[in-house]
Formats: sequence, C-alpha cells, structure tokens
Amino acid sequence: MQQKEYLVGVDMGGTKIAVGLLSGDGKIIKETRMDTRGHEGPEIVVNRLVEAINALSEGYEIKGIGVGVPGIVDTDNGIIHYWSTFNWNNVPLGQMLNAQLDKKITVVNDASAATWGEFNFGAGRQSKNMLFMTISTGIGGGIIFEGQLFTGSNMLAGEIGHVTVNPNGPTCNCGKSGCLEAYASGVSIQRRAMDAIKNSTSLLVEMEKHESRPIDTKMVFAAYESGDLVAQEIIEQAATYVGIVLANFIQTFNPDRIVLGGGVMKTNSRFIEKIEEVTQNYVLPSYRNTYEIRRSQLFENAALIGAANLIV
Ligand code: ADP
Ligand code: ZN
Repeated sequence: MQQKEYLVGVDMGGTKIAVGLLSGDGKIIKETRMDTRGHEGPEIVVNRLVEAINALSEGYEIKGIGVGVPGIVDTDNGIIHYWSTFNWNNVPLGQMLNAQLDKKITVVNDASAATWGEFNFGAGRQSKNMLFMTISTGIGGGIIFEGQLFTGSNMLAGEIGHVTVNPNGPTCNCGKSGCLEAYASGVSIQRRAMDAIKNSTSLLVEMEKHESRPIDTKMVFAAYESGDLVAQEIIEQAATYVGIVLANFIQTFNPDRIVLGGGVMKTNSRFIEKIEEVTQNYVLPSYRNTYEIRRSQLFENAALIGAANLIV
C-alpha cells in the first residue's frame, strides 16, 4: 500500500467513459477508457464502472472519486436528474457507487468539471474570472467567478451553447431556434456543410468523392484552409456567433480569461483567430485589453482532472 493519497476522476460521455487515477496534485498516473453503452441502464453501467475503478486503483489509497456527467446533476445529493442521451432520470449515481466502493463520491456536471480542470491545471491557470466554452459534438460551458466554480441558483449556470444568436435560425437539439450550438458545434458545422454542397461546386464535393466517405467536421476545416468559399461561409459564421457570444459575456462578467476547448478547437485553422477578431469587434473599446482568449490545454482530460479535484 502506498503512503500518499490518490484521487479517481471519471468522465462519463455519451460514447466513452474515461477513468483516471490521479496523484494529489492533479496529475494523471494512469487512465482507462471504455464504451458507455448507457442504453443498458444505470445499474449495468455502474457495475462496469466499479470494476474499472477497482482495477485501476488496486494498491493505491484513494481519497475519493469525482464523476463528471453530462446533463442536469444535483451535486449535493449525487443524483443525475436527467441525461438526455440515454433518457436516464433521477439516477442516484453517488449512492450507487458508494454502496460498492465505500468512498467519498462527488457527482458534477461534466462541463463544470472541465472548467475546474482548465482553471486549476490548464489554460485557465492564474486567472481570476474565467469562462470556459467547449465546442464539441455540442457546445457547453462553465464559469469561474472570483476563483470559484459558479454554478448558479439551480446548478444551471453556463449553458452557453443554448444562448440564442438568431431567433429565426435553425432548430437546435434542445428544441429552440437559432442557438449558438445550432451554428458552431462540430455536428452543426458538418450538417451545414452537407446541406450547402448539395447544389454546389465546393471543394467539399471533391473531398467527399476522393475520401469515399461523407463530409466530417475536419474536412470542412481543411476546405476552409484551402480557401473554399462554402466552407469559409460556414466556419466564419460559426466563429462570428462564438465571438458575439463571448463579447456579450465579457461585457456582462468582465472575465480576464476565456478558454476554448472541445474537439473542434483542435483545428489548426484560423478559427481561433477569427473568433478573437470578432470578439474584439463586438466589445466596447474599454474592454479590449481586459481579457485573453486561449485554447484548451487539457482537452479530453479536462473533465476527468476537474472532477477528481472537485472531491470535497
Ligand atoms: P465529445 O463531444 O464526445 O466530447 P469532442 O470534444 O472530441 O467529443 O468533439 C467532437 C467534435 O470535434 C466532432 O464534431 C469532431 O468532428 C470534431 N473534431 C475533432 N477533431 C477536430 C479537428 N482537428 N478539427 C476540427 N474538428 C474536430
Ligand atoms: Zn439549443
């Protein structure tokens, strides 16, 4: 048995669950990933998760387990109120894990966990007030207010993907019209490109043929970098709406740091520069030197690291 205390972080996603063993200072020592298969129901998923945690932590003294979960979470009671992907309702995840592991369990929203991870160990270090936005399959976010995770009155703060950017815009996954997510998420960029090339001569038509597979988000960014006008319109519209939302947030909360994460931010294209340019254009001049926009440093490990470090 080791002398030091260790932490376990879990990031439950719609596709994969990542489990990490972390040292007390937040560094990942080892990690394992498995398919979520949430349609099998909470009990079977929890049993699989317990096995993975036991295997990973064998021989280590574990202080607690932090779990990041998409959807609406009641952290005080360790309950997943609602996880839309699998239609899980009121799952007492904390209690279920505790019954088998007899450890302190903290259940948090995954975007909040990622926000906390970036703030303490990633691109948010040394900031005081920070906004995190994850541009992934969907768009999520989290807020650090005066060095603390700000979750709001009902633990609902930070749903930045569903702020309206165009009331007459396309229908979003949430059912509203014209949310940021409907323009700028990975899936929306892909879908908009697929629609746009139906009757066009875009480079994307050639790419689709050449690769013998449908267009994906990365291909849209590659076409954008090659100067394709269809891709440019889609990517720059996404960047414009992200920039406008950031500018609105900056004027409301006066943060010193914005961190942009999620798979889409892995692009090497000028996407982030375009976002920075739009944000500058939409804030009042007095805000222009008050904030910094940075790309995530932790990417897919942000939620796991943050969840482990939110163990109370
Ligand atoms: P999840 O939503 O499951 O957390 P990610 O954060 O990895 O997943 O985001 C997935 C999205 O990121 C997908 O739409 C994918 O196409 C997109 N993506 C991944 N890598 C890149 C890249 N290099 N450039 C642009 N988009 C990317
Ligand atoms: Zn929405």
